Amino acid sequence: MLADLHTHSLASDGVLAPAELLARAENNGVNLLALTDHDTMSGVQALQASLASGELQTTVELVPGVEITTMVNGACVHVVGLWLDSAHLGLQRLLNGQRQVRVERAERIAFKLEREGMQGVLEGARRHAGDAVISRPHFARYLVERQYCTNEQQAFRRWLGKSKVGDVACIWPELEEVVATVQSAGGVAVLAHPTKYGLTRTKLDCLVGSFSEAKGDAIELVSGAQQSNVTNDLLKLCERYPVAFSTGSDFHSPAQTWCDLGQQPAMPEAAEPIWTLRQAAA
Ligand SMILES: [Zn+2]
Ligand SMILES: [Zn+2]
Repeated sequence: MLADLHTHSLASDGVLAPAELLARAENNGVNLLALTDHDTMSGVQALQASLASGELQTTVELVPGVEITTMVNGACVHVVGLWLDSAHLGLQRLLNGQRQVRVERAERIAFKLEREGMQGVLEGARRHAGDAVISRPHFARYLVERQYCTNEQQAFRRWLGKSKVGDVACIWPELEEVVATVQSAGGVAVLAHPTKYGLTRTKLDCLVGSFSEAKGDAIELVSGAQQSNVTNDLLKLCERYPVAFSTGSDFHSPAQTWCDLGQQPAMPEAAEPIWTLRQAAA
């Protein structure tokens, strides 16, 4: 089973249309693909409609998913929801609220950057977002376009990343609420890329503990081109908790050469994959 349970499309901050993403996954030999855009399932719904009508055909099993931003102990943490019913009202309410937070955040980021002498920031970022949920990479693309920065990484390092001018505080929902909503929508809740928050080992242990206490289902054991020692450390740290495991490339763009769809390293055999539990339950 080649699974990739964490990917992004044009519906959030990825660059491929959902159908292009699906075709690329099939081409890469992926069997199980989750589309997990930030705070929206519009890409998933479009794919489901095209598959149902026969307009689109694929050998890939599509897992309806989403990536939701939440707060844990005062820090921003991402939760991936998988096998979701996108029509679930509680989930729709939560995602609508998330998108509202993002709109307000975008206005505040633009205000702050314009105060630094940059021009047309909000309109520019909105143009890059198009119909997608607006997020920081859209600002980064505008800053590069206007040559305020040479590339998107630099835009984050100088302006948009942690503790920079454009890093504005947001009120995201609590972890318990996110996990409960994902589960009430028929899905499983996965703690996304736990080693990418820059936490010390003690704080990482605390995060996994909080997630387990909130009744989260699985930990994303492998994310992108993660090193095997990092994976093995994380697996060991999770031993004390009753959690299953997930894996994903966190693919955003073909330009992300370090990890294409489904190309993240394999999960260690000792880790119980979330999809086998899911199949057993079904
Ligand atoms: Zn994330
Ligand atoms: Zn992601």
